[in-house]
Amino acid sequence: MALTSLSDLELLNLIKEKSKQERNLTLEVINLIREVEKRRLFLKLNFGSLFEYVTKELGFEESAANRRISASRLIREFPEAEEEIRDGSLTLSNIVQAQVFIRREEKLKSKGLPREEKKKVMDLVKNKSARNAKITLLQKFPEQVILNESTRQVTADHIEVKVILNEKVISKLDKLRGLLSHKHPNMSYSELIDELTNMAIRKLDPVEKGSRTASRRNATLTVKELDPTKNESQRNTIKVKSSLPPLSEIEGPDVQRLRTPASAVESSDVQKSKTPTSAVEQSNKQSSRYITSAVKRAVWRRDKGQCVFKESENHERCGSRFQLEYHHEIPFAKGGQPLAENIKLYCKRHNIHRAITDFGKEIMQEFTPGSVT
Ligand SMILES: [Zn+2]
Repeated sequence: MALTSLSDLELLNLIKEKSKQERNLTLEVINLIREVEKRRLFLKLNFGSLFEYVTKELGFEESAANRRISASRLIREFPEAEEEIRDGSLTLSNIVQAQVFIRREEKLKSKGLPREEKKKVMDLVKNKSARNAKITLLQKFPEQVILNESTRQVTADHIEVKVILNEKVISKLDKLRGLLSHKHPNMSYSELIDELTNMAIRKLDPVEKGSRTASRRNATLTVKELDPTKNESQRNTIKVKSSLPPLSEIEGPDVQRLRTPASAVESSDVQKSKTPTSAVEQSNKQSSRYITSAVKRAVWRRDKGQCVFKESENHERCGSRFQLEYHHEIPFAKGGQPLAENIKLYCKRHNIHRAITDFGKEIMQEFTPGSVT
């Protein structure tokens, strides 16, 4: 159709009609997304989450995916919202905003908001522009101002992260900056966060953990442990630089690896997990579902710290790094042993998904109420 041939009136009518069709089509997609979620089809297709499915498989950009998923869940809870979306009184972005505020409120109060309260919040954003909806929500929940976080891509490999921190956190960061100042004078927040995340990964990543020395003193993550005042013998800050053992750990994992005899890896696990050392007790452990740290580490390294779930051999593996768990390939209840060849790294969702396949939905619901829907 040649648009130039349309009269002004025809053009205005047409765009109105098409916009209505677009909203209806969006609603149709939203309802279909709800059904996919209900059937958990995204898990069968190897996606760790519905969000991943909607972005990667359906090709929606992240914010559009987020809006559609939020709307689909809102309609599941309040079916009447469907009409409000259709007639345009409730926009998808306002639904997302309202749901963000509801979730934060629940987090702040550590309990779920009653249904009627949620409904009131949704009513607040009806017939409002995105900006006015936000203002209204902030008026209703003024304490949430501090929870406003945002990220923005500034260069190809730099992202601006906006967070509001309370004074206590800032003073802890400043304290850490001081404690690290021997090695890195005048660290910026970004350098400080880089350093702290490296330390945390060394402490929490099972593979990195395995390459640490047996000494418990190497855990240098917290202020408490780094802080010389927590340790009488290291109170003198001049001595700190030359003698405080945790600071030498800050020099990097290579230093530790050199100091770590190969055998120390195992002995540290034995100490840490209080694994019984006698042969008898050791063999008792073998017949339990207990997975030793050494096995966990081997599995983590082999599976590259990612979920290896595949729906079938033709599919790619899930690859999620979120909420990873150790999955028994042959279930323990069916005689599967806690050995590396029988253990796989799965994200929580796929672990539950597999358990449902292995044991049936009914049984799983008894063990994990709420997580299986
Ligand atoms: Zn997964």
